[in-house]
Amino acid sequence: MALLQISEPGESPDPHQSKRAVGIDLGTTHSLIATVRSGVAECLSDHDGRVLLPSAVRYHADRTTSVGQTVLECRSSDPLNCFVSFKRWMGRGYKDINRSLSPYRFLDREGLLTIDSAAGPKTAIDMSAEVLRSLAQRAQESLGGDIDGAVITVPAYFDDAQRQATKDAATLAGIKVLRLLNEPTAAAIAYGLDQGEEGLFLVYDLGGGTFDVSVLRFSRGVFEVLATGGDSALGGDDFDALIVQAWLKDLGLSLDSLSPSDRHRWLILAREAKERLSAFESVTLEGPLGQQLLDRNSFETITKPLLDKTMIVLRRVLRDASVEIEALKGAILVGGATRMPQVHRALTSLLGCPIHCHLDPDEVVAMGAALQANLLLGQRSASDDWLLLDVIPLSLGIETMGGLVEKIIPRNTTIPVSRSQEFTTYKDGQTAMAFHVVQGERELVSDCRSLARFELRGLPPLNAGAARIRVNFQVDADGLLSVSALELNSGVHASTIVKPSYGLGDEAITRMLRDGVDHASLDMQLRALKEQQVEAERMLLAVDAALAADSHLLTVDEQHAIQCAADHLRSLALQSDHHAIRNAIHALSHQTDHFAALRMNRAVSMALSGRKIDELA
Ligand code: ADP
Ligand code: MG
Repeated sequence: MALLQISEPGESPDPHQSKRAVGIDLGTTHSLIATVRSGVAECLSDHDGRVLLPSAVRYHADRTTSVGQTVLECRSSDPLNCFVSFKRWMGRGYKDINRSLSPYRFLDREGLLTIDSAAGPKTAIDMSAEVLRSLAQRAQESLGGDIDGAVITVPAYFDDAQRQATKDAATLAGIKVLRLLNEPTAAAIAYGLDQGEEGLFLVYDLGGGTFDVSVLRFSRGVFEVLATGGDSALGGDDFDALIVQAWLKDLGLSLDSLSPSDRHRWLILAREAKERLSAFESVTLEGPLGQQLLDRNSFETITKPLLDKTMIVLRRVLRDASVEIEALKGAILVGGATRMPQVHRALTSLLGCPIHCHLDPDEVVAMGAALQANLLLGQRSASDDWLLLDVIPLSLGIETMGGLVEKIIPRNTTIPVSRSQEFTTYKDGQTAMAFHVVQGERELVSDCRSLARFELRGLPPLNAGAARIRVNFQVDADGLLSVSALELNSGVHASTIVKPSYGLGDEAITRMLRDGVDHASLDMQLRALKEQQVEAERMLLAVDAALAADSHLLTVDEQHAIQCAADHLRSLALQSDHHAIRNAIHALSHQTDHFAALRMNRAVSMALSGRKIDELA
């Protein structure tokens, strides 16, 4: 496809004043902020020299808020008001999340997921805004003034609702978002892959609670995300849980028998063991019930199923992108959990291409975002003229007659993108048309996610099929969708920006993708059936109208024959044999040929006041 120029929201470069541009990695476990100094991206640290800010927020009854490490320390004493991992709730509703393992007081409400706290009801957007505010504060102190703009990273699979929620959080924190950037693309920029050879790259991101794989193509100065995939419930934390299980098994205890605070204590201990094993062959730690030992070999054996799982996902994403392993130019490691030596080993032996891992895997995403922010604020050097392209995670389409989905933009299309398709009216004299925008891979609307509805009113009353309505889908560089409809004869138009109905998670995306594949052949049959049913109904409407107006042109026998064929079709259309419906449509069409010719002949002869049609030949 043609490469699309991304408009740059920053103002033109001012040689006298350098702008404070930052990149923010708003992570599930940790968040970071980075900036570019003398052409080099670096993460900014807090007063204690730490660059990682735990994405943790505590609400107090006096309406004050704490963010970061101190919150983690209070989690066991104040579990209801200390929030972590809220990135998983971004853009979701009450019904979309798994509440069973959380201690929080979720409120059963429509719309955005809301959780009660000592300071009143809060959303993931509020919590993310606290983290962003804290990072912005850090940048302000370090850079000596307010930041002028930020690039915030999001997982490549984030949908419209999740992206919008991220932007809302930034707005709430008073941060100007230059654009959202996909995390894997940011990592590739941090490694300067834009300065090197063209080719295909794989980004393997194993964080605390999530695993993401993306395939990027870099060509002619452009990054393109070819495919993404992952597992939203797989990360470093799962490795910790397996360690705890193994320890408890040795002690004859089970995880379920522990109180929440004990469980928490064991998990912290396991995490420490895991992290130390990245540097040491074995560790001994002081646990709640005495000394706990672990060596690297047994750790790797216990957790091998998790590592294997990531490799399965990785192969699937490569398949999705139609990329052979041999074609990869390199792989990039992102996320704290890729420090585990077995990750590096497994990737080296599977991929056989260079593995980029010399930058800190916690920091690469923020660094890439900072480089991009710098560019967008016009502080570029001559060589920095890359563009960025990302993909949409699920197909976008529109509902057509019979509850079918017409896909306008297929999934994994690079953004920004604009696509149009023409539709027409179904009934004679129709003056309004309802549009239903949906997202998903299935053929039937009922299996897809509803994004928005809008109406085109004031159409000129034309015969069915005469109106020409062009529907345009546009996805901007941040992955947000606007849809418009224009009737080409009259210029009547309507549009909507998909203010996403909050509430689709990455599990849901994965499920919808899987269902799309699993049900493909069934869907095709259903689609064929629905199409024939719609055609049958259209035909019956036309025949009924013609009979009502002009049945006097026919003999009684002819009328009867048409009625029989119509009734036959009407009864078959209620059943599910699309071949039979098609045959009945043909039969009715055949039966009415003569009637149609008579009507035409009469219309023409009326227009020509008495001259016979065959005189005109
Ligand atoms: P997220 O992107 O979800 O915010 P991070 O990229 O910060 O997560 O990764 C956090 C995970 O990385 C945690 O599970 C943590 O235990 C793990 N981790 C951090 N350092 C190491 C290390 N040295 N060895 C192994 N795992 C580590
Ligand atoms: Mg991360």
